[in-house]
Amino acid sequence: MTGAPDDCIIIGAGPAGLTAAIYLARFHLSIRIFDCGTSRASWIPTSHNHAGFPDGINGNELLERMREQAARYGAMREPKKVTDLSKDGEAFFVTCGNETFYAHTVLLATGVVNHRPKGIDDAVHQQALAAGLLRYCPICDGYEVTDKKVAVLGTGDHGTSEAQFLRGYTSDLALVSPHGDHDLDDTCSAKLDEAGIVRIAGPCGGFALEGKQLAFDTAEGRMAFDSVYPALGSTIRSELAQACGAKTTEEGCIKVGDHLETSVPGLFAAGDVVVGLDQISHAMGQAGVAATAIRNRLAEQRPLRR
Ligand SMILES: Cc1cc2nc3c(=O)[nH]c(=O)nc-3n(C[C@H](O)[C@H](O)[C@H](O)COP(=O)(O)OP(=O)(O)OC[C@H]3O[C@@H](n4cnc5c(N)ncnc54)[C@H](O)[C@@H]3O)c2cc1C
Repeated sequence: MTGAPDDCIIIGAGPAGLTAAIYLARFHLSIRIFDCGTSRASWIPTSHNHAGFPDGINGNELLERMREQAARYGAMREPKKVTDLSKDGEAFFVTCGNETFYAHTVLLATGVVNHRPKGIDDAVHQQALAAGLLRYCPICDGYEVTDKKVAVLGTGDHGTSEAQFLRGYTSDLALVSPHGDHDLDDTCSAKLDEAGIVRIAGPCGGFALEGKQLAFDTAEGRMAFDSVYPALGSTIRSELAQACGAKTTEEGCIKVGDHLETSVPGLFAAGDVVVGLDQISHAMGQAGVAATAIRNRLAEQRPLRR
């Protein structure tokens, strides 16, 4: 660890982290951006709800455009995984394996990881995602399954609410339990009955692309659907926030104030890792607010002048 601390270290180069990088670099601040290359956006075959792209945009292309925009202002993504984060006095210490960096502020934009169906082969997962046979975000792409044959892989409250949401797009809808029988209380069962959503027992396995559908085994035989939505939860990547003493919800989302500052002064968070809507527009909006708040916090500590 040598030299002066950076003004800000951004952890994560998805839509949130890269938006913040563009803002902070354009504020003439010294920043670093560390990223281990697993953005949820890289799973998007084509986003049709991201404003400004009437023909849609591929997730990796969007990330590439944002990386290029950040790089034009000197903000280069560094491919490093951050393994620890701590604060001592007013300085943050960011550890990547055997290297440590320090900064006046940190922005966490580490996102979440969707749980995949158990037993699905990597190649099948990739092909099904690319073909829109496997989808993870009904708010993003429910429109694309309008009037199609759709399965939600899940059960309980989460599976029920995802199926209810998708009922707004199609009537040919089944809730399939990923393991054995469904785990549904009377309220969930009544909601599913009222909406005409079929229930199918698991376990599920043998996922394969068959024709233009994704097929898999259930307790009631082999079935095929135009699209399958896993509703199996996700891992929220907030462990660095917790290591640094920031408050999180029971589920692990980072709690923030109106300007995206966590309960640790100088530590900010934006995007999917924060409580709220998991969408690109939201991640970008939060990152813009967080970056400006970071700039204003630094300006209270020293004049930011040319
Ligand atoms: C299949 C699919 C389709 C989707 N479609 C849409 C859509 O059409 N429209 C839409 O608005 N949203 C869509 N989304 C959601 C969208 O991808 C997310 O809301 C968005 O990517 C969140 O951005 P983020 O920057 O918060 O997190 P991410 O994009 O997940 O980026 C987080 C980054 O942090 C890095 N990171 C994590 N931990 C560390 C660490 N310890 N050290 C270094 N780096 C770290 C990761 O490698 C990753 O690059 C979709 C998601 C999926 C899965």
